[in-house]
Amino acid sequence: MKINLYFYTRIRILFNMSNVREILRKQSFSKEDLLILLNADDKETELIFKKAADVKAKYVGNITYFRGLIELSNICSKNCLYCGIRRENRLIKRYNATDEEVINAAKYALTRNWGSVVLQSGERNDKEFIERIEKLIKSICSLSKTKPGITLSLGEQPEETYKKWYDAGAQRYLLRIESSNKELFDKIHPNDKFHNYDYRLESLRNIKKIGYMTGTGVMVGLPFQTLEDLADDLLFMQEFDIDMCGMGPYIEHEDTPLYKYKDLLLPIEKRYELTLKMIALLRIIMKDINIASVTALQAIKPTGREEAIKIGANVIMPNITPVKYHESYNLYKGKPQIAPETDNYIKDLEKNIQNAGDDVGYGLRGDSLHFLKKNKN
Ligand code: SAH
Ligand code: SF4
Repeated sequence: MKINLYFYTRIRILFNMSNVREILRKQSFSKEDLLILLNADDKETELIFKKAADVKAKYVGNITYFRGLIELSNICSKNCLYCGIRRENRLIKRYNATDEEVINAAKYALTRNWGSVVLQSGERNDKEFIERIEKLIKSICSLSKTKPGITLSLGEQPEETYKKWYDAGAQRYLLRIESSNKELFDKIHPNDKFHNYDYRLESLRNIKKIGYMTGTGVMVGLPFQTLEDLADDLLFMQEFDIDMCGMGPYIEHEDTPLYKYKDLLLPIEKRYELTLKMIALLRIIMKDINIASVTALQAIKPTGREEAIKIGANVIMPNITPVKYHESYNLYKGKPQIAPETDNYIKDLEKNIQNAGDDVGYGLRGDSLHFLKKNKN
């Protein structure tokens, strides 16, 4: 008997759907489970998104926290093969925002009751940089009576530097593992002692040991990356017991060495969709961590960040860097060149967040509940 193709397809879809439904009922997830979920088609993905939204509402609530992102300098001593501000890219103008500009940006965020700021820049390990950051952290702390949330995203540093900045008043650190697969990590970084998977891991361990709320993340849709790598990334973050995550789509930059593999990449919309799926799955497996909806999503789709809020993310980092520096902080192609710090822009963002089902957590620091629970005693 010939099997009607339509019938056959329906059976396959129904079988998979029930598989996805069953997996989503589980309390813990194996790599095989995650692979099936990562492979889910559009219909099945709706189930995953629904589950992630429910988990978010139940465990962290429908609140989105704003963190004012200050990209204080694009000077970098590293040479990551994917990044537009890598040391060897001579086509960009290097900048270093002044202390006054950084403090004014922080004031902007804190006077609007955002509660937190993020200091991000290219990586530097010199004394001048270390002392400057220490001073900036202290100045930002003195801006408000209640201790503001300060996240650092300043790359790999020796343990004593992390400690110095922690003692100055920063409580959160974001250092992406980029990919938990060492082989893939090696493919996207130069092969030298300054770019080393084990050192990245050791840095993350030091950050955690010192007492920071520890954040990591990966790029989604890298050349050579497989769904299996992404399943492993999710398990890595769970096993490392992170408190926060910032992950986003890889977006190729033509002035970087990795650009030569552009033909190996998934179409940009697929990378976007896969990132949303990763965010939803991370919410399902790590219920009470903070998950950022990153700018790279917005670079692909103007409302990309709000979409991620609907399916599990609970942090947005509006860019409050002085506008004149925006075009020089091009980690990837098409980074939004708007001026988000205008009050009108923020009003629109707030409206979109409300449409996505969340309130903005004004006046709250929005610390990672996962971290607070772990450190209760
Ligand atoms: N220098 C610091 C912080 C700035 S880079 C650090 O490396 O941690 C912050 C993040 O930007 C990196 O972790 C990387 O994941 C991301 N990034 C860099 N180039 C990118 C690209 N082409 N596409 C998407 N994300 C990119
Ligand atoms: Fe520098 Fe960070 Fe870019 Fe690497 S990813 S080149 S460390 S700014």
